[in-house]
Amino acid sequence: MFKASLDKPLCTTITGSLPRPAWFTENLSGRPLSTALLGDFTFHEQYVDAVSNCISDQRRAGLDIVTDGDMRFDMDIGGRAWFGYLFDRLEGLSPGALRSLPFGGSPREEQAGDIFHEIMVTRLPPKVIGPIGPGTLEFDVAWKTAQGLTSRPVKFGSCSAQLVDMLVINEHYKDRAETVMALSKATNQEYKRLVDAGCEVLQVEEPCFHFVEDVEWEVSAETYVEAFNLEIEGLRDHCEIWCHTCWGNPFAQNLGYGALYNPILPYLDQLNVDVITFETKYNGFEELADIAAAISSDKKIAIGVISHRHLQVETPEEVAASIRTALKHIDPHRLILSTDCGFGRQGISRKHAFYKMVSLVRGTNIIRKELGLPTSQVIAETPNLAYL
Ligand SMILES: [Zn+2]
Repeated sequence: MFKASLDKPLCTTITGSLPRPAWFTENLSGRPLSTALLGDFTFHEQYVDAVSNCISDQRRAGLDIVTDGDMRFDMDIGGRAWFGYLFDRLEGLSPGALRSLPFGGSPREEQAGDIFHEIMVTRLPPKVIGPIGPGTLEFDVAWKTAQGLTSRPVKFGSCSAQLVDMLVINEHYKDRAETVMALSKATNQEYKRLVDAGCEVLQVEEPCFHFVEDVEWEVSAETYVEAFNLEIEGLRDHCEIWCHTCWGNPFAQNLGYGALYNPILPYLDQLNVDVITFETKYNGFEELADIAAAISSDKKIAIGVISHRHLQVETPEEVAASIRTALKHIDPHRLILSTDCGFGRQGISRKHAFYKMVSLVRGTNIIRKELGLPTSQVIAETPNLAYL
């Protein structure tokens, strides 16, 4: 149900991740978050301060819904921790190891000397060696740490169970379809703990339809719909549920090979969610009309008006122009303004991310004024409060 974005036309947020502060040098390295927070003073101080920084930057930018910047993720290579946080903590999985790539690998993923190759070989996914359970994911600990620092709703996001399944080697379940259901049940149990703790907005990141739409694969798009709805079963009555989609984030690369949303829109619309996000900025909102026509009116549509791939900071006027384009297809009460994906840990810098967030809200405020809607305060643009 709508909670965090309820009664907020042209609501603003980011996908999730923010660049790590350079001084945040500690890593979880497989430890449960609670073990590190309670028993490691240096990690505790750096982690809580880093989350606090992320929230402060988003508050100064004026975003309506904030995130913890995914600060629980280790500073590893090519964004592995987005998967790896789950690989290293779910019950029933072996330690990660070198392995061959799914689909036999695309030509770029198999080519040494290609950045896609480095992204894929550093994934180090585990084997499934026993019944899968939530293990020590402790999403509630991460969310509480962030929500305790702000009165604005904190959106908690995590890599989907089906994307974890796509990379693991199954040595326990009958087949991959059974494995994806077991993983989805395990993360569902963890999400229930998160919602019981009071989380108002949960974002499950990346269903897998767009990866299998044009390739031979062991799991059908229909099974992925079923698995995604199992992963969020029982949550929508208590929480605002988002589904995030994009064409890639590691090293700020587009891994989508020019793929389009159009063929998978019917599957996306079958997801039992409140909000679906789309990466739209990168191709000039080319598919917006198709997206608006395909997604049912009980769902909101979050579009990227800020790129996580390009260093040039979008101007507020550019953001406003993007929103005007979107409003030709989507009612302001159903439209959420966001980034194409997370800013990541090895893409752009903290300064770029900060000023992009500021532009996002300043641009949205231009349109809010035009429509007679309330604007959000952008502390960063207040002259007598600027420290630069
Ligand atoms: Zn993304």
